[in-house]
Amino acid sequence: MENRLERIKKQLHAQSYKLTPQREATVMVLLEHEEDHLSAEDVYLLVKEKAPEIGLATVYRTLELLTELKVVDKINFGDGVSRFDLRKEGVNHSHHHLVCIECGAVDEIQEDLLSEVEKIVEKDFHFKVKDHRLTFHGICHRCHGQSAVKEEADPSLAGNI
Ligand SMILES: [Zn+2]
Ligand SMILES: [Zn+2]
Ligand SMILES: [Zn+2]
Repeated sequence: MENRLERIKKQLHAQSYKLTPQREATVMVLLEHEEDHLSAEDVYLLVKEKAPEIGLATVYRTLELLTELKVVDKINFGDGVSRFDLRKEGVNHSHHHLVCIECGAVDEIQEDLLSEVEKIVEKDFHFKVKDHRLTFHGICHRCHGQSAVKEEADPSLAGNI
C-alpha cells in the first residue's frame, strides 16, 4: 500500500499538485476500502478518524481532484449518490459492476466483457471508444443462495471433435 501511495503521489506531482496531509488521509481511506464503493460522506467520516480537523468541503475537493487525475472513478448506481472507486493500476478500462437490488451489494467484474461490442461501435458508428461504463442491476448470488463463480466447463466435452 505504501508503494501505491507513492505512485499516486507522483501522479499528483506530475500535474503540479501536492499530496497534502488531508489529501494523503483521503487517499489512504480509498486504499484501505478499495473493495467498497464509498460516497463522499462515507469517505469524510473515515478520513475524520485519521484527520479530525478535516472538513467535508476539503474531502469533496480532493475527491474531485482525484477524479480529474483519473486516480478514482466517480460512479453512480442510479440512487443519486456519487461513489468513488479507486482505478486499478495500469488499466485503461473501468471495471464492470453488479449491483444487487435486494441487499445493495456491489460486486466487480475486472475482465472486460465488452471488447467485441466496442469493435462493433467503432466499425458501425465510426466512434473511437475510449472506455465505457457497465452496471448490471439484479439479484446477487448471496440472495440467490448460489455460489459466486460459474461452473468450470466440463473438460470431457472439450477437445473431442
Ligand atoms: Zn468498482
Ligand atoms: Zn444481494
Ligand atoms: Zn468493460
